[in-house]
Amino acid sequence: MRSGTWRHSEPDLYDLLPSNANLVRKGMKDDPTCSLCQGKQTTEHVLSSCKVALSQGRYTWRHNRVLQELAMAICDAQALLVQPKARALIAI
Ligand SMILES: [Zn+2]
Repeated sequence: MRSGTWRHSEPDLYDLLPSNANLVRKGMKDDPTCSLCQGKQTTEHVLSSCKVALSQGRYTWRHNRVLQELAMAICDAQALLVQPKARALIAI
């Protein structure tokens, strides 16, 4: 491949989080281990494979926080949709 040519590769596309394994790969850190379980902290490990995070309910907490944010965004969007009608009723 020529120098300077953009190259698509799956790890580059999907593995962008600054996990310890990625930081070691980029020369920014010496130790790739997870601070919770001492396993290799890859993106997959952080997102769904850390047994300690699972046992502490961290994945459930994260899941619920994402749903809470989505619910708030939906409520905000509905408020924006309802608000013009409410204003019209007040003006009558
Ligand atoms: Zn871990």
